[in-house]
Amino acid sequence: KRIVVLGGGESGVGAAILAKDKGFDVFLSDFGKITARYSQQLAAEAIPFEDEKHTEELILNADEVIKSPGIPPTAPIMVKIAQRGIPVISEIEFAGRYTDAKMVCITGSNGKTTTTLLTYHILKNAGINVGLAGNVGKSLALQVAREKHDVYVIELSSFQLENMYDFKANVAVMLNITPDHLDRYDYRMQNYINAKFRIIRNLTPEDAFIYWQDDPVITAQLDRIKTEAAMYPFGEHFEKNSEAYVDDNGQLVLNTDHISLTMPRTDLSLHGLHNLYNSMAAGLSACLLDIKKEDIRRALEDFDGVEHRLEYVDTVDGVRYINDSKATNVNSCWYALESMPRNVVLILGGKDKGNDYTEIEPLVKKKVKAIVCMGKDNTKLLDFFKDKVEAIYDTHSLQEAVDTCASVSQQGDTVLLSPCCASFDLFSSYEDRGRQFKDAVKRLNR
Ligand code: ADP
Repeated sequence: KRIVVLGGGESGVGAAILAKDKGFDVFLSDFGKITARYSQQLAAEAIPFEDEKHTEELILNADEVIKSPGIPPTAPIMVKIAQRGIPVISEIEFAGRYTDAKMVCITGSNGKTTTTLLTYHILKNAGINVGLAGNVGKSLALQVAREKHDVYVIELSSFQLENMYDFKANVAVMLNITPDHLDRYDYRMQNYINAKFRIIRNLTPEDAFIYWQDDPVITAQLDRIKTEAAMYPFGEHFEKNSEAYVDDNGQLVLNTDHISLTMPRTDLSLHGLHNLYNSMAAGLSACLLDIKKEDIRRALEDFDGVEHRLEYVDTVDGVRYINDSKATNVNSCWYALESMPRNVVLILGGKDKGNDYTEIEPLVKKKVKAIVCMGKDNTKLLDFFKDKVEAIYDTHSLQEAVDTCASVSQQGDTVLLSPCCASFDLFSSYEDRGRQFKDAVKRLNR
């Protein structure tokens, strides 16, 4: 059987190695340039590959195609593959065929990486032989081929879920659904919701579905489609079926048939309402895997957080600087503001994905004393916010933005980079933006 892998990044190379180990005739093709690290790995494994082109004769004779999540189904080669009726699967689907490990799968529009890393942290510190995969960590296929863990915690984007069919999670987590990536879904929200909900395909009564009970999109979808899985809704306040909530005494309650525990909400290491939800989802997942209460409590208390997600940088002249560069949509900025005290100087801007800023308007009015726009073109932000804050500034580089923040803030204020936008107008990635921000803040302190 011939397997063609499209995309020579982490997931594609891992899939090719697993396919080779399993005795398939494998070929990998990437339309872009494959980085040296991956081309060397492919050569070392004697896997034939090409880059900067797609040779149709070598691709369209596949029995099955494993597609990297970044390649849209509308790419010309994908259209030809579809015309031939060749089945297309994702790396996660492929890897899932070759392991009996327990799978904790986490999706949502926001909070995936945080919840995935927090869940991994709990399990790892409880002594479980656990692997981290999906959008974070190493390729699942490579770990299945070479490392063999007992449990995997997997961050799944809607793109990855699109090509999953028989894969089965043991614990599936749905954090929230708000509009994102709609350009990939014909601007139809329902298409995006359907992709996300593929995570519950194949769940049996022995499996668990953990979801945020107060998300209207999730609950409407659950009314429409049924699952046999045991349901674990969570939310800030107790409702009829809640399995995680905060009680009247400020205790976080996690409740499963396996393990149940309580702990003071204020002991959670991650702050903010959104991180309460993320901690609930991670904590419930750990309970369902029979992790000891003490281990869950300790890990929820000592988790360091994730870089570029509400990351505390430094205090300079009594002003706290927070890096939330990963807030690339309006909803994640809402949660960042929600978790802040008053007197915020907010850095917004970048590549706008069709943003509607009315969602954050009330919080901006309540908590933000100044907005510093930082982007190539700030017109939309300036127009929208000009009458809604005391002061708004137009800047076009990170240094300029941070210098402006420093000059307009006073002791006790918080400078928050939570830009609502993608970074590609001025930076190579959100990580690049976050690192440059941290460097600029460190320079202030010298
Ligand atoms: P993802 O991997 O889904 O992009 P991250 O964990 O990287 O999510 O967090 C991205 C941003 O979203 C963070 O900057 C944070 O402000 C915000 N965020 C994190 N968790 C949540 C949540 N549960 N609900 C809404 N926003 C969140």
